[in-house]
Amino acid sequence: MGFWWRPLITLFVIALIALMLWAGGGQFLAFKFAVVALLVYLVRQLWQENRLVRWLEQGGDKPAPSDIGVWGDIFYRLEKLQKRRSQSQSELVTALCRFQHAAEAVPDGIVILNGQDRIEWCNPASRRLLGLGAERDRGQYIHYLIRQSDFVDFLNARDYSRQLNINSPANRDIKLMVQLVPFGAEQKLLMVRDVTELERVDAMRRDFVANVSHELRTPLTVVGGFVETLNDMDKPADADLKHYFGIMINHTRRMQRLLDDLLTLSRLESSPNTVAEEQVHMPELMRELAREAESLSRGRHAIRLAIDSQDWLSGSLQELQSAFSNLVSNAVRYTPDGGEITLRWFGQNGHPVFAVTDTGEGIASEHIPRLTERFYRVDRSRSRETGGTGLGLAIVKHILTRHKARLDIQSTPGKGSTFSAIFPPERLIPAQTEQKPRLSLVK
Ligand code: ADP
Repeated sequence: MGFWWRPLITLFVIALIALMLWAGGGQFLAFKFAVVALLVYLVRQLWQENRLVRWLEQGGDKPAPSDIGVWGDIFYRLEKLQKRRSQSQSELVTALCRFQHAAEAVPDGIVILNGQDRIEWCNPASRRLLGLGAERDRGQYIHYLIRQSDFVDFLNARDYSRQLNINSPANRDIKLMVQLVPFGAEQKLLMVRDVTELERVDAMRRDFVANVSHELRTPLTVVGGFVETLNDMDKPADADLKHYFGIMINHTRRMQRLLDDLLTLSRLESSPNTVAEEQVHMPELMRELAREAESLSRGRHAIRLAIDSQDWLSGSLQELQSAFSNLVSNAVRYTPDGGEITLRWFGQNGHPVFAVTDTGEGIASEHIPRLTERFYRVDRSRSRETGGTGLGLAIVKHILTRHKARLDIQSTPGKGSTFSAIFPPERLIPAQTEQKPRLSLVK
């Protein structure tokens, strides 16, 4: 039965009895009955409303008052609603507790930051790794507590794809990797991982490679020297012997190049993150690189030089020269005779760019993302034939990363490739502002 019918039936019954009294006994009696009945009805409504208000004031936790009729129905429905609400509330509390317990058990540090980078919550691991106090530091700006400039720059950059390695502010022997993950409207999760052990193993690997390379270099130089001396001796040697000497010389030279590249990589990996901020005279360096290309090519290619900008570059001259030389040497080695190689220095949307374009064999697109991996070669035998070590582009990538620059590779198989080193605008030194003393090129 609908809600409205029940009060209407009550009123209808009162009206009916009143009418019957009117017909049987008189008007006054009917009127008296109607007034009394309506008053009783009204008082009952007020009493029920009062019960409802009292029940609600008690939080609705106790069982709802019971009754018959409309009020019984109202109480029943409200109680059902209330039960459903408290059930979902308790489910929510359980889920929240479970999440909090899980977050507290995670060995990585988790800090929730609001839009202004103030701490909202942190787990016990973050207290250990970052020295935060859950209650003490709630509401504090995170950069007041982790004051390292690298971290502050990282926080302000809002580049959520990046990770940063820092020393723990709580214990400098602990190395941390931090990452920011945005969530909600403008909140962020600061994830902190202890990478001390990983870094130790990585340092051991670096040291091992550097030591082995260093130890091998001296005996190899001695062996290579003797082989070359024997080969150069005036005594007429057997043709076969000459042939074998030639092979030995080639292989010792290749091993020497490999050791040199391995040592260069180790040096780059173990040097501090900051590079020497020298003023590099790029137009002069370009001319030097073109001379280098000419000497490597020995007239087999047309070498072109396009210096579209007179600007200088800020960075380590020795490292930049090594990276650019690698790109030039690759262009010469992977371009068949008669091809063209262009070295270009120019500006692109405020970014200084060094580019080497060749008309060589090109590279299929599936190889491009892997070219900067150590020892990755598209054609192993071609790399060997041309004296490659498979480490050139790994060195280039490392040097560019140290300069906050990136390597862009565009290539079409059969047509050629362009390798571009794109530097951030802040590395550009406009031509008229460069200062003395000018740096001379490293030979
Ligand atoms: P490698 O010493 O073998 O040349 P690199 O690290 O310098 O090692 O280069 C990795 C690979 O990238 C090379 O083996 C070659 O296959 C490819 N490569 C590099 N530069 C070029 C280029 N200019 N044209 C075509 N392929 C190239």
